[in-house]
Amino acid sequence: MFFSERNSLSKFRDTKIIFMKVSSRRQFILDSAKISFVTLLAPRSITSLVKDNPTSSLPIVSMPDAIFKQTPLPYTYNALEPWIDTQTMDIHYNKHAALYCKNLNDAVIAEKVDPDRSLEDLLAGISKFSAKMLNNAGGHYNHEMFWKSLTPNGDVQPKGTLLAAIEKEFSSFDNFKARFVDMAKTRFGSGWAWLIMIPDKKLIITSTPNQNNTLMDIAEIKGLPLLGLDVWEHAYYLKYQNRRADYIDSFWKIVNWNYVQQRFDSVL
Ligand code: MN
Repeated sequence: MFFSERNSLSKFRDTKIIFMKVSSRRQFILDSAKISFVTLLAPRSITSLVKDNPTSSLPIVSMPDAIFKQTPLPYTYNALEPWIDTQTMDIHYNKHAALYCKNLNDAVIAEKVDPDRSLEDLLAGISKFSAKMLNNAGGHYNHEMFWKSLTPNGDVQPKGTLLAAIEKEFSSFDNFKARFVDMAKTRFGSGWAWLIMIPDKKLIITSTPNQNNTLMDIAEIKGLPLLGLDVWEHAYYLKYQNRRADYIDSFWKIVNWNYVQQRFDSVL
């Protein structure tokens, strides 16, 4: 498709008009937005966006609303092969998780949440918000944590203080694994299995339905998630179909125990 400077300028003008409309309607959010309008409206960045992908719609309108964002994956889509296949990683991150993030931002705007409020704080008061907020705030938090808790260079088991705490609570690492696996296998339908630390510093294995997690005020058992396993079918179905147990088995090959240790250390 031929791309002309005139086309570029006209798209820029249109974008600016749309942008100004959005700006006035959502001034309360935009005033505190972490993204600079000046940067967003710089003609060079706009024209390069259009030029790179002239047939697609401009992403610029939704960008100022992005209170919450997906952090880039800490590895490539194929890095966790053969345990998690490339296509699943791509769709899981770019479609499922991206939609939770977008819907969360939409809900934050619609329900007039202070854009500076942390996601953890939002989860702690989630019962005061809509089902859309519940599902997508949980979805965003859970997936952001999930990507970081995986690595192509995983150790077989944790070390040091985390291992000691697990052995103290569950008598052995193998026993911990068996109980976590059981929790993940028996979560009916969609949800997550968790290793969490409850307020008295005790480690607990639990599970939650849908995109709920243990930071939410509606959780039966509350605590800081240290490790979570996504057992939604979208996390494994392309490769494992109905064999959730095989997917859970593969999970142990790619756990980033260093990240779990960091979370553990953060509350000690
Ligand atoms: Mn998922």
